[in-house]
Amino acid sequence: MPVTILNWIVPITILLCGMAFAAIRLLGFATERWGYALLSLSMGFSIMLIETERFTPYKQVLEDSLILLSILLACRALRRRLDIQGSLLFETSVMVFSAVAVTVSLVGFKSVRLETLSVEACCAVVLWASAWPFARSAKSRPDRILAALFLLLAFLLTGQCATFLAASPVGHAVGAWRTSPWGNMIQYTGVIGSIVLTFCVMLVAAEDAIERHRIEAHTDPMTNLLNRRGLNALLESRQAKRFHTGPTVVILADIDHFKTINDRFGHSFGDAVIKRFATVLTTAVGSKDCVARVGGEEFMILISGMTLQEAAATADRARSTFATERWVSNGIDQSFTASFGVSMASRDRMAIDHAIERADCVLYAAKQQGRNRVIVHQ
Ligand code: GH3
Ligand code: MG
Ligand code: MG
Repeated sequence: MPVTILNWIVPITILLCGMAFAAIRLLGFATERWGYALLSLSMGFSIMLIETERFTPYKQVLEDSLILLSILLACRALRRRLDIQGSLLFETSVMVFSAVAVTVSLVGFKSVRLETLSVEACCAVVLWASAWPFARSAKSRPDRILAALFLLLAFLLTGQCATFLAASPVGHAVGAWRTSPWGNMIQYTGVIGSIVLTFCVMLVAAEDAIERHRIEAHTDPMTNLLNRRGLNALLESRQAKRFHTGPTVVILADIDHFKTINDRFGHSFGDAVIKRFATVLTTAVGSKDCVARVGGEEFMILISGMTLQEAAATADRARSTFATERWVSNGIDQSFTASFGVSMASRDRMAIDHAIERADCVLYAAKQQGRNRVIVHQ
């Protein structure tokens, strides 16, 4: 049966999907690897449309290898998201096995059905080998979407292998296989799979970008801690349930006479002191999740499941560690101090706001009473 313009819709649609990846690559999204996979698939399906027996089995080996290569490339792009290592030996072995199996099927058994079965089986094995470990490690929503898609494709190809086993043999007229139900099934799977993959990868790229910007907006670049906006978002999030349902301690910490540090030793030295103070605080608390830089040299710590006395002891440990560190600049040996205000909140969001106000009051009192001290709001 002659190839119509309608038949070209399959490779052209796949090529357009690949070109969409190239286009959004120009917008700064790292999607080129998915584009290469679809380009290879499109070439495989295009060669399939060239109906000649002259180059058998080389033509079929080439088209089937390109289709298998597209799956390998897509799996590589998938694994790369989670840094899951692949095996080049495995990939090469599957490619070689597929080429040999296609040749033997066509030359030895004269069976297009066997040829299709062997290529689809190789594609299914490659998909399972990446989709399964990826699905097990996928934590974020975008990764789960991709894991679901790849598992679905692996299921689909495995199911198709079973149908090829049961399929009735197809005649050997040129193009007979391509226009058979089995040939159509492969082409539809290819085109629908490519469209769904493109849709999912675009969705995932958008989600990745949103998440990257959210993290940037919520993080202080100097200390890598939450900033005030990040802290507010944390308090609004489900993660913060522990702060609202049980007693929570608020610690406010502020470096003493920081303006003088800047004036005497310079702004970049001041930055180094801020970074070190941030490390002292996170080490004392034992977690980065609930320490935020809420001002230039001012930090807020939220701790749940700790008594006021335990929190005061934690704050005092941080105070003492910071105060005993020696700093040498321009031959001057210095030490710096910080003051802390500690208060307790309970249950709801307003309670945390009130606790912050109380911690601020006692921090102010600590400054008034000579600095380098921890004051607890009783
Ligand atoms: P006090 O003991 O009462 O807290 O005195 P202070 O000098 O530490 O207080 P103040 O809040 O007046 O000074 C904070 C200074 O921190 C003012 C500002 O120039 C400086 N600062 C704010 N952000 C940064 C920063 O990112 N890096 C550096 N080096 N300095 C900063
Ligand atoms: Mg200060
Ligand atoms: Mg301050």
